[in-house]
Amino acid sequence: MRIVVLAGGIGGARFLQGVRAFAAAGGHHVTAVVNTGDDVTLHGVRICPDLDSVMYTLGGGADPERGWGRAGETWAVRDELAAYGADPSWFGLGDRDLATHLVRTRMLAAGYPLSAVTEALCARWQPGVTLLPATDDRMETHVVATVEGEPGPRALHFQEWWVRYHAEPAAERFVFVDAESATPAAGVLDAIEAADLVLVAPSNPVVSIGPILAVPGIRDAVRSAAAPVVGASPIIGGAPVRGMADRCLRTIGVEVSAAGVGRLYGAAGADGLLDGWLVDKRDADTEVPGVRVLARPLLMTDEAETAAIVADAATLGRADG
Ligand code: GDP
Ligand code: CA
Repeated sequence: MRIVVLAGGIGGARFLQGVRAFAAAGGHHVTAVVNTGDDVTLHGVRICPDLDSVMYTLGGGADPERGWGRAGETWAVRDELAAYGADPSWFGLGDRDLATHLVRTRMLAAGYPLSAVTEALCARWQPGVTLLPATDDRMETHVVATVEGEPGPRALHFQEWWVRYHAEPAAERFVFVDAESATPAAGVLDAIEAADLVLVAPSNPVVSIGPILAVPGIRDAVRSAAAPVVGASPIIGGAPVRGMADRCLRTIGVEVSAAGVGRLYGAAGADGLLDGWLVDKRDADTEVPGVRVLARPLLMTDEAETAAIVADAATLGRADG
């Protein structure tokens, strides 16, 4: 079976560990289509937080406590930059991590597309899945928000809103800058078309899955795929398991619940994406019109449990209604 997973960073990476374990047991192949809306250039280097979270996590190089960045990280460069007063200082640029960004930036400058750069980086990390950026084109998620002390709203890069301001400035809207002119990275549409199962990771629906689907062609490919599409809710009991997805959902006027996110994705038969929707036991009363809903424990406590979640997603995908 060929499995395609739409994924963001940390939640996506943890889910993908389970997908990989499930796939290994069944001899399946996995392609991850990863959000690039968080990508940002700081201190002259190109940073792809979600691709790196997935690559480091699947490659065994992620910091397990922080959930992002490298294990055994040191921060000499960050401290030296701060000593120069070189802005910005709010982004945690680790020494080990920086090597990844240097290799990436040099390859991009030499003309390689991000997908080729990602493949080259993965030659080291051997993530065990095919990692594809949603697009090779530059697109960035911005947030229109009013920062405290400022006279009115302005567009901030998502990373600045999220990391520097902890998503506190009230957001008016999200803008996927240059998404409309982006094209899916090489291999993305083919993978979706050839898939036997498409999974939507329990990633942030607004700023992780949203930008992937905003790349023209990807949403249509998922909708017209022959494969069943099954998602897992990042919202359990009315709150995100971790992070600030609730702030993002409120901004776009979506109820912070498993049902709210399920309806946001919508039913495959009615202009939406989903054939199946996994929710936590606590949300067992969830109804999404036109979508098969299965309630089961949805905390990704370890790889084996996450693989069991994925196995249930696969079963839900096969069910005939
Ligand atoms: P980011 O790009 O690093 O923010 O990561 P993602 O967008 O891929 O994932 C963030 C989402 O993962 C958050 O909205 C969390 O609620 C969700 N999440 C994290 N851990 C779990 C878990 O154990 N179970 C479920 N269902 N969702 C989780
Ligand atoms: Ca992210």
